[in-house]
Amino acid sequence: MTTKASNYLTHFRNIGIAAHIDAGKTTTTERILFFTGRNRNIGEVHDGAATMDWMEQERERGITITAAATTAKWTRSGTDQEYTVNIIDTPGHVDFTIEVERSMRVLDGAVAVFDSSQGVEPQSETVWRQADRYGVPRIAFSNKMDKTGASFDLVLNDIRERLGAIPAPVQYPMGEESDFKGVIDIVRMQAHTFTNDLGTEIEIGEIPEQFAGKVAEMRAQLIEAAAEVDEDVMMKFLEGEEPTQEELVAAIRKGTIEKRIFPVLCGSALKNKGVQLLLDAVIDYLPSPLEVPAIRGKVEDSEDTVAFPADPDGKLAALAFKIMADPYVGRLTFVRIYSGTMQSGSYVMNASKDKRERVGRLLKMHANSREEVTELRAGELGAVIGLKDSGTGNTLIGDGDDAVLLESIDIPEPVIKL
Ligand code: GDP
Repeated sequence: MTTKASNYLTHFRNIGIAAHIDAGKTTTTERILFFTGRNRNIGEVHDGAATMDWMEQERERGITITAAATTAKWTRSGTDQEYTVNIIDTPGHVDFTIEVERSMRVLDGAVAVFDSSQGVEPQSETVWRQADRYGVPRIAFSNKMDKTGASFDLVLNDIRERLGAIPAPVQYPMGEESDFKGVIDIVRMQAHTFTNDLGTEIEIGEIPEQFAGKVAEMRAQLIEAAAEVDEDVMMKFLEGEEPTQEELVAAIRKGTIEKRIFPVLCGSALKNKGVQLLLDAVIDYLPSPLEVPAIRGKVEDSEDTVAFPADPDGKLAALAFKIMADPYVGRLTFVRIYSGTMQSGSYVMNASKDKRERVGRLLKMHANSREEVTELRAGELGAVIGLKDSGTGNTLIGDGDDAVLLESIDIPEPVIKL
């Protein structure tokens, strides 16, 4: 049950973006930051040219994805509900496996990006298995739909055969390669057509006749998968009734969080196509910090473990997951707060090193700015300035609290057998 103090977390998504090198992780992340920035009217975006200028500037300044955790805001399309989306950098290269594993600890869900002309490549397999080990719910983005050789079916087949997972396409592409014109939302039964080259304008309409058969078939499979995880949908399914849109979304969400359903979307990050819909899917299907199992810490000198549910009023439990040197402010320690609240100017205990440390300033990193905050609450991520001895993987707890170590928690058994 959620306590009132943690209600804000319903509108939080802490996600990573994982991919084989070259599949488009950088481009997808940049576009997400672009659209979330645009969403908040950052930059004067009036027409296509200005849009591209803004992106180029961001790229030149090179700050879009250098932060270990970037905080963005997204208003779910068709609603006025704003969400906080923290994007955690997941190193893509196999050499950084330990770093990848550590980043898996601090995210609640992931977007797996595939190159739709290549299908599932070896590094994607590695990261997918790591996500399995850490029990990370995932949605997949079949990127590069505009590219020669792009095939949505190839990605679906590879997810089945190489990853041993059952893909649940929630979209279907309207055309492939240079014919890629939009995507069909199979859940809502709408066609989203991109009407400008930048993909920033989307027209929502009826599903074109030529795709009706394929979409009906895929929707039937989607409902069947949803029925497996949700009783209400199952009852309707058995009676030959259609679930409502809300029921279907809720069932897919439940299945995704339980790692029994892997929603698959498609688009072209390079052409900005489908990225807003991907953000909507992050909101719709990936869990909030309240919907994942509470992290556990091992009590020092004991076999006991203790859970830290996401509650800003609980005991402080945070993990330092990345140290970066900043030319202006020096050492930045990126942390995820699991429980409690970290205050600027306070003292914390580094339980891994048995050292008391003073928290100096606290920052939230945005794509094009840094925001100084006085506190970081449970479920939030940010950077601490002032920690001297805390290293990657260290546990930070409240000053005077009993020592617990978050690093030593058991890794859950894989959910999917490969
Ligand atoms: P990363 O290594 O996964 O971060 O991949 P990048 O984002 O750097 O992309 C690798 C290459 O693929 C770059 O040349 C991109 O311009 C290109 N690329 C990324 N997304 C798309 C896409 O949607 N369509 C096409 N045609 N190329 C893309």
